[in-house]
Amino acid sequence: MEPVESQTRTETAPDFSPSAGTAFTAAPATPGRVERRKRPRTWETPPAPVPPPHLDDYKKIVGEAEIDELRFLARELKGKTLKMVNSTAVGGGVAEMLNQLVPLLNEVEVVTHWDVITGGNDFFEVTKGFHNALQGSDYRLTQQARDIFLMNNEQNRQRLQFNEEFIVIHDPQPAPLIQARTNSPQHWVWRCHIDLSNPNPEVWGFLRPFIEKYDAAIFSSQSFARQLPIPQYLFYPCIDPLSEKNKELDDAFVQQVCDELGIDRSRPIVTQVSRFDRAKDPVGVIQAFKEARKYVDSQLVMAGGGATDDPEGAAVLREVREAAGDDPDVIILDLPPWCALQINALQRASTIIVQKSVKEGFGLTVTEALWKGKPTIGGAVGGIPNQIIHKLTGVLVHSVEGCAYQMRYLLTHPEFAKQLGENGRAHVKENFLMTTNVRRWLLLLRILNGRK
Ligand code: UDP
Repeated sequence: MEPVESQTRTETAPDFSPSAGTAFTAAPATPGRVERRKRPRTWETPPAPVPPPHLDDYKKIVGEAEIDELRFLARELKGKTLKMVNSTAVGGGVAEMLNQLVPLLNEVEVVTHWDVITGGNDFFEVTKGFHNALQGSDYRLTQQARDIFLMNNEQNRQRLQFNEEFIVIHDPQPAPLIQARTNSPQHWVWRCHIDLSNPNPEVWGFLRPFIEKYDAAIFSSQSFARQLPIPQYLFYPCIDPLSEKNKELDDAFVQQVCDELGIDRSRPIVTQVSRFDRAKDPVGVIQAFKEARKYVDSQLVMAGGGATDDPEGAAVLREVREAAGDDPDVIILDLPPWCALQINALQRASTIIVQKSVKEGFGLTVTEALWKGKPTIGGAVGGIPNQIIHKLTGVLVHSVEGCAYQMRYLLTHPEFAKQLGENGRAHVKENFLMTTNVRRWLLLLRILNGRK
């Protein structure tokens, strides 16, 4: 298991509550509630795809002026071609975002295609190692790993066509595709979604020569950027308020999902939605919950699934099940990647939401939780502090103990928790919605277009 950051660090109570430190009462005991829940329902087939929203649909959320501005910015780019490439079509935040971004760019007549690189298990094991190493984990870069990485990228380079005017490569996995660059006046952009603030020097040293060949790099936070000889831009990731994951839901549907999953809405619900990945510290969440639940009656929902580029997922899920033991209040859901509506319902049913990552890129699950007005506890890593301003739009934690403390605090201070949720939603509306993201892309494409 990954070491949990600063286990000994002390969390401070939100200090403007008059009852801080005094309101913790022992949970009402729930004797006899030992029977296992009924087996939760699973969704074996993906639902029919939902047509993507149109720009005008966002007017009711962000206002007409913002949408008019997007159309104005796009005028100069009409008919230009753009290709986005990433490493997985489902699971994970990048795929989630591209699913929404690509149709909107097409709507403003930037002709956008999205391709996904392919590779065997060995390739995705190497890229997972790189991904973790670039976010600071120990890693020994072997010649075999280099060869696997380069060979798979070369195969993808030969398979994919790169005829568009703008090429955007997402994350390190496909970074060497820059070698497909021809002499034609193309613009190549590397969009980095991970935390590069403290990368493993060997892996970064190996990748850096590829990155330097791009025309620009985009990072998700000021602190993620590296010294590079190319222009760098800051794009916060975003969520789509109209997607299945984030749209408003009828309470009857939320209730139905909870019933199907064996979740009792009459008791507080603490939820973490995340791939089963050690960087998300799922075992730490269970430990924190078990501590908090000694004082506050509650249930924990751990909802996750394995991304197609994450071979470790199954092993982590086993660890999570082991940590939960036969506790009937810990509900572990291994959901297929097409369960966006169910995740939405789970988030809306939650009393508080946790994202106790010990390493994180940006953490879209945090954005999703804040948008739903939920009091949110986040690990103070990666892009989470951009979203959670401590004690204003949520609370940040640095340890299992701190997380347990904040779970207990928020569950026993509902007024404070509600205020955090409201502030969090306003923060997302201002900074992290899809419409702002489209605006950033259009501005960047205009800048690059003006350069030739
Ligand atoms: N997600 C999901 N099902 C799961 C786990 C995660 O749909 O079982 C979604 C989650 O709602 C979010 C994205 O996957 O939209 C995860 O993005 P995030 O940036 O939080 O983490 P990543 O997985 O990219 O590291």
